[in-house]
Amino acid sequence: MLCSRPIVTQSKKPAVLRVAAPVPLRRPFDYLAPESQNPDRLRPGIRLRVPFGKREITAILLEVAAEASVNAEQLRPALDVLDDKPLLTPGIMALCKWSSDYYQHPVGEVFSAAIPKALREGRGLSETHWRLTTEGKGLPEGALSRAKSQAKALALLQTGEQLPEVLKNAGISGAVLRELTAKGLVERCRITTSLPSAALKENGPPLSEEQGSAVAAVEWDSFSCHLLQGVTGSGKTEVYLRLIAACLDRGEQALVLIPEIGLTPQTVKRFEARFQSPVAVLHSGLSDGQRFAAWQAAQSGTAGIVMGTRSAIFTPLARPGLIIVDEEHDGSYKQQDGFRYAARDVAVKRAQLEGCPVMLGSATPSLESLENARRERYRHHFLRGRQGGGELPMLQTVDLRGLQLNAGISDYLMAAIRETVEAQKRQALLFLNRRGFAPTLQCHSCGWVAGCDHCDARLTVHLRKRCLRCHHCAAQRALPAQCPDCGGTALLTHGLGTEQTEEFLRNVLSCPVHRVDSDAMRGVDAMQSLLEVAHSEEPCVILGTQMLTKGHHFPAVQLVGVIDADALLYSADFRGEERMAQLVVQVAGRAGRESAGGKVLIQTHYPDDPLFEALRHGHFESITRSLLDKRRASGLPPYGQLMLLRSDARNERDGEAFLRAVQKEVTGFLPPDCQLIGPLPSAMPRRAGRFRWQLWCLSASRGSAMAAARLLVERAEGLRKSRELSWFIDVDPSDV
Ligand code: ADP
Ligand code: ZN
Ligand code: ZN
Repeated sequence: MLCSRPIVTQSKKPAVLRVAAPVPLRRPFDYLAPESQNPDRLRPGIRLRVPFGKREITAILLEVAAEASVNAEQLRPALDVLDDKPLLTPGIMALCKWSSDYYQHPVGEVFSAAIPKALREGRGLSETHWRLTTEGKGLPEGALSRAKSQAKALALLQTGEQLPEVLKNAGISGAVLRELTAKGLVERCRITTSLPSAALKENGPPLSEEQGSAVAAVEWDSFSCHLLQGVTGSGKTEVYLRLIAACLDRGEQALVLIPEIGLTPQTVKRFEARFQSPVAVLHSGLSDGQRFAAWQAAQSGTAGIVMGTRSAIFTPLARPGLIIVDEEHDGSYKQQDGFRYAARDVAVKRAQLEGCPVMLGSATPSLESLENARRERYRHHFLRGRQGGGELPMLQTVDLRGLQLNAGISDYLMAAIRETVEAQKRQALLFLNRRGFAPTLQCHSCGWVAGCDHCDARLTVHLRKRCLRCHHCAAQRALPAQCPDCGGTALLTHGLGTEQTEEFLRNVLSCPVHRVDSDAMRGVDAMQSLLEVAHSEEPCVILGTQMLTKGHHFPAVQLVGVIDADALLYSADFRGEERMAQLVVQVAGRAGRESAGGKVLIQTHYPDDPLFEALRHGHFESITRSLLDKRRASGLPPYGQLMLLRSDARNERDGEAFLRAVQKEVTGFLPPDCQLIGPLPSAMPRRAGRFRWQLWCLSASRGSAMAAARLLVERAEGLRKSRELSWFIDVDPSDV
């Protein structure tokens, strides 16, 4: 049981305040309570101002301890207590402590992930809400419709009490609120834990049997984990919406995680169309003010639905009732720098700590989740049919061997594109996972190849911007007119990128060609207008990278073409095949969602690869079974737990030497079921001017893995530091 009762210190000794400070050190820090402080205020989860070296910083109180961990005389008193009540809920406190231990990341930095910047800098929380007066509640619909801002304010307040910040972000000024106050329609009140409205704006369609049984399987008030597997369009979101409705009905809040690219205004609108209760949205594109408002709406309990990308998993909820992770297999749930956590896994842990259900949804679940379902740790629900009867597309490979290609496209695929856009007047979606014009620039006279000065990588030709770019670091230079080695002017491009295919298609087709990659899609607006094009259903070609595969709705797409499946097939990463299968099934899922007879063409030189064979028969499950068998044989996740100690150094050999030293230090002290492998160079040994090495640690159980992680970090910290070398631990890495 988690509780936030004040901690009573009985001894005469002064209470020791143990805090998480936002510094990159792995331990908590002790302080004395500020003088004349009411001990009742000193509850875990409040903020304190404390001296730190010569600075003052804001820290979070972890516990009130009886004994100091250092010599008590050395303790300095905290300067100030910033909160009357805990800012963080007991659930979030426990989650941050667990995450710090599990991912072996400094506890203060983990807590920083849970608190918006304004609060980390010491700003206070709002103490008041705005709400409707009795008179305001009694207003007939459409009242004040001539005063637009006033009407807007009333409409928002109709859904429940609102924080001043939320109203401000909705564009409602203080003046408007003053006018409404003068009319006696609204008033300020102290924040109570008001319940968000559970009322529906619209009812959903009646559920299918499969949807109904998934919804019914969720038990409330206790932890359970559910895996909802169904292709795009099978009705997963409808299941989420029903569960959220049930959660709101219980007076609890729902937290919904969405992959980075999936969080578009459309997604939010679909949720807002269903519920009276407002949706608090949290993602990396928010201003500090917006983030603060959404965070406080979640923390105070006014927001019934909290939706966000990865980091939203650390948002405190006053009354957590349900967690949903959409597209649970998605790579964007893993944070790849600083505090390296996997939000999907943290979500499951959080549900366990908060005692609430969690639902993971995907068309192509990760092998980890499938294995958990097989072991009955998760309950597995399938949505096998498509809603609206749209048939699953037919999948076919195009054997490229010996075929003539134009910008990567075979005549066979070209004919299918023409048939789709010209004859059937539908849309075609082409997938090519490489942006730019071509991945290689070479001199025809001497063979020079344009490489990055800082990475073991070639520079990609971007013809539109007339430059060469490294896709692994920030390096960029102008496209040379001559070879820097021999002065030759005959420069050739090799290989294929989206720019090139786009240019070719523009020349041969009369319909529009839209390119969707991170070069073309800068900002939310670009994605928004693409989705408008997709929904306009005008015949066109949409050509893009994996940006296309994420949960978007392309109702008029009749043909999907995978231009270069071979590039996906061979990867150094042990997850390569899993990703490939997920990608193909996800891309295929965009075809023929609402119209029967969608078609998927996969171009490859290896049509007999068992992976394609299985995909042709639409058996994601048979692929995952064979992939799981391979993983079991090698003891790789999900059958063993993997972590990497990674080093990053300016000199070629330093990182390797460092990892060897750590290896020597821990040998003999690791749990018996842990195995060290390496040190090995990373898949791209030199990146952005640094040489990268990794030491693998494979453990048979989670308990041993955590013990091994602690030991590795402790010993690595004990070694002599150098400014030329940095290292970090990556627990459950997603890229190796
Ligand atoms: P997913 O999240 O799996 O992609 P959605 O929940 O978005 O699937 O459903 C796809 C489409 O089918 C949506 O337009 C949705 O409104 C509709 N739909 C979902 N469930 C039902 C149902 N039980 N009856 C009728 N239409 C449904
Ligand atoms: Zn040359
Ligand atoms: Zn580079």
